[in-house]
Amino acid sequence: MRSMDYQIRCTRCGRKQEETAFRCSRCNSILEVKYYGSRQTLHKAEKNKPMTRYSGFLPVKTLSLDLGEGGTALKKVGNDYGCELYLKVETANPTKTFKDRGSAVEMTKAVELGVKSVCCASTGNMGLSVAYYAKHAGIKCTIFISRSANKKKIEKIRRQGARIVKVDGDFNRLWSLQRSSRRRRARSSAAITILGRRGKKPSDSR
Ligand SMILES: [Zn+2]
Repeated sequence: MRSMDYQIRCTRCGRKQEETAFRCSRCNSILEVKYYGSRQTLHKAEKNKPMTRYSGFLPVKTLSLDLGEGGTALKKVGNDYGCELYLKVETANPTKTFKDRGSAVEMTKAVELGVKSVCCASTGNMGLSVAYYAKHAGIKCTIFISRSANKKKIEKIRRQGARIVKVDGDFNRLWSLQRSSRRRRARSSAAITILGRRGKKPSDSR
């Protein structure tokens, strides 16, 4: 997709932002990708790369870090609740979580922007996914994770080559620390933060 087909805008005031912006420069709200024109069309998916079907909708030039995520099966599990009920088998993704769809796009964009390191606050799955895609992108990765998180999950993140920072506290504490880390690193090298959670912002995020 060409950069002119989309813009990064504030979800609250609508102000246009640079692609490297983390929050709105005017009101500090979170940002979203807004699409323009009618160029967004479905493509024929490349072999073993289901996400390429949606490349016309993604805010990247080419989805260079497509590692086989997406395209997971729908399994019919019954006719309860007055309708046909299906489950999406997201454990078929590379790190067994739907987070891989976002990580593929996020890390592709990081490569496009020339980013050298990323950091992410996570309770487990997001951290593993970001670490996995960062490794394949050749980007340094730091994961802030709760000390009480699943130990096997932490070990899997470590095996991806990520630096792990164990934190005492809840997700708000993780988020705050990784944001401080990102600010320090951004002064010395290209760095971005991967948002591990959407919606209501943490109470101490300002
Ligand atoms: Zn704003």
